[in-house]
Amino acid sequence: MPLRPETIAIHAGNEHVAGEHPVIQPITLSTTFRHEAGALLYSRTENPNRRALEKVLAQLESGVEAACFSSGNAAGMAVFQALPAGSHVLAPDDMYHGLRLQLKNLFAGVLEVDFVDMCDLEAVRAAFRPETALVWVETPSNPLLKISDIAGISQLCKEKKVVLACDNTFASPIFQQPLLLGADLVMHSSTKFIGGHSDLTGGVVVSAEKSPLWEKIRTIQQVGGAVPSPFDCYFLTRSIKTLPYRMRAHAANAMLIARFLEDAPSISRVYYPGLESHPQHPLAARQMRAFGSMLSFLFEGDAQQTDAFIEGLQLFTNATSLGGVETLIERRAAVEGPDTKTPENLIRLSVGLEHPEDLIADLIQAITTIPLRIKN
Ligand SMILES: *Cc1c(COP(=O)(O)O)cnc(C)c1O
Repeated sequence: MPLRPETIAIHAGNEHVAGEHPVIQPITLSTTFRHEAGALLYSRTENPNRRALEKVLAQLESGVEAACFSSGNAAGMAVFQALPAGSHVLAPDDMYHGLRLQLKNLFAGVLEVDFVDMCDLEAVRAAFRPETALVWVETPSNPLLKISDIAGISQLCKEKKVVLACDNTFASPIFQQPLLLGADLVMHSSTKFIGGHSDLTGGVVVSAEKSPLWEKIRTIQQVGGAVPSPFDCYFLTRSIKTLPYRMRAHAANAMLIARFLEDAPSISRVYYPGLESHPQHPLAARQMRAFGSMLSFLFEGDAQQTDAFIEGLQLFTNATSLGGVETLIERRAAVEGPDTKTPENLIRLSVGLEHPEDLIADLIQAITTIPLRIKN
């Protein structure tokens, strides 16, 4: 019987435990296991909580297997490390800066990387080389919420026998399933929506099939050793049970805030794939079930005025990261550092689960009092 995500989220990550029959799988902290038939060996290689977490994530993404890591960056790095030296990689021009730094710095001299506009299928097609081994997409992208056509790019990749991997962090497995659109690998920072409470760091790669590349990623996980702790796996499995419902409320709140900002004074542009004004809204509507809770907008002012607006907000916490129950806001260029291409007045918002009318009232209050604060 095919199960729906709400049911998978609650049941797939619960391994049956013999003996006292707890309803919820306990945390197994033991690093080692007695040598007996069928027993695990050692916790870096395998741990019951990690195994349960990998099971639920693989099912939510409609993949065959998942490998969990101690961070999203470690998950992404495992994919890059699994490629033969000298491979050519196509990566998006708008991309999570931590993974971009890996490709530009850590893998310099190991991988050849071209950053292309993944929204432009012709540009992607033209960028392929004979030694291209991986196309990496991130959709919606950070911080401009650009949408890449996963099915379209997967078509190109299949013609050229190139692996397609998708960073699905902004969408969550609830709103977008890249493997069903033709991607080979999907990656998440589970620090974000999957964890959902801004209290743990984690990452995952899910594979559509047990390919040799997948076996290499599994080896990198087990031998490289960037694995999450049993505690982190336990809390992620717990968080996933409410993920489908959290995502719905996140998306509903974000839509209300995006519509408010579109008409608000002092805001010149809103980037949210759920708005009809987003250039790729039809594509987003095709490949996503809903549009997530990340949005960016341009504040009419310089960096200092933009910071003053952010400081005037009371319910929006000025902090990096995203996907938690609390709304976070940041001036993105300040976080990305001096070599960023992000405009200095671009504000990124991770809309949380507060009541949307309280959030909107706070935005109105901050916009109307800004002249007062700038004078001081
Ligand atoms: C946060 C993030 C990552 C990196 O994940 P960490 O858990 O911080 O290592 C990768 N991709 C996207 C889109 C992210 O938002």
